[in-house]
Amino acid sequence: MSKLQPIAPESRVQVQIGNARFGGQNFVVIAGPCSIESEEQLLTTALSVKESGAAVLRGGIWKMRTSPTSFQGLGTDALAYIKTVKQKTGMALVSEVVDPRHIEGIFDLVDAFQVGARNMHNYELLKELGKQSKPVILKRNFSAYVDEWLKAADYIVKGGNKNIILCERGIRTFETATRNTLDLNAVVYAKKYSPFPVIVDPSHAIGISSLVPQISYAAAAAGADGLLIEVHPNPEEALSDGDQALTFSEFTKTMKQLEKLLAVFDRTLVKL
Ligand code: PEP
Ligand code: MN
Repeated sequence: MSKLQPIAPESRVQVQIGNARFGGQNFVVIAGPCSIESEEQLLTTALSVKESGAAVLRGGIWKMRTSPTSFQGLGTDALAYIKTVKQKTGMALVSEVVDPRHIEGIFDLVDAFQVGARNMHNYELLKELGKQSKPVILKRNFSAYVDEWLKAADYIVKGGNKNIILCERGIRTFETATRNTLDLNAVVYAKKYSPFPVIVDPSHAIGISSLVPQISYAAAAAGADGLLIEVHPNPEEALSDGDQALTFSEFTKTMKQLEKLLAVFDRTLVKL
């Protein structure tokens, strides 16, 4: 393990996505479908998660699927839906960029670029994102040491972009009962030794929707700066990651509990 110095409070970076600021006592929830599937799916989800207290919308345009025969995302067909939904809801949108060649085409529609777990080591992509002015949510690869994750963030910083949010999304361990294993050690470690806000993706971490609320609360209690949660109008029919998506009512319930828990720690749930 490398010897890092704890980050002084005055050196901590705060990152703004739309109207929501990550860092300090704020707690921000990003929610939405794994993949954008239709305008109606994105719109109904956005309206519902906003009402429940999510401040930022998520939705995949291109998907990095294990099998090439699985749904790969709508690609550029999703762009018109994003435009309409953002206009109707006023929500900012986070979406994964899987290829540096896609950045230009989505730049005006996406408020923050997500780097997926599989692309954390794609240094050419990180270098390109370093040149951009928009925030980057950098997911930890499921096999990456924390040190490698923090060094991946350094690639983005080196290009001139300090608007980085780190996202722990579960790692591979010997355990296969759950999709991945949420590494809360990494969350508290990164919060202490890296200047960037740290959020948790409980959906990919555990992979089982009924267990997502509990680890969301654990992440909040551990001091995460927010969550990235998958929500779908009808998870059973989702084109990707349906097993881990919360329904609207499950998400609403989770947000109510979260708000109570955050109050114990003098944290504020940022709402629109
Ligand atoms: C996602 O957010 O839908 C996703 C593909 O996540 P990850 O890169 O963490 O697997
Ligand atoms: Mn997903």
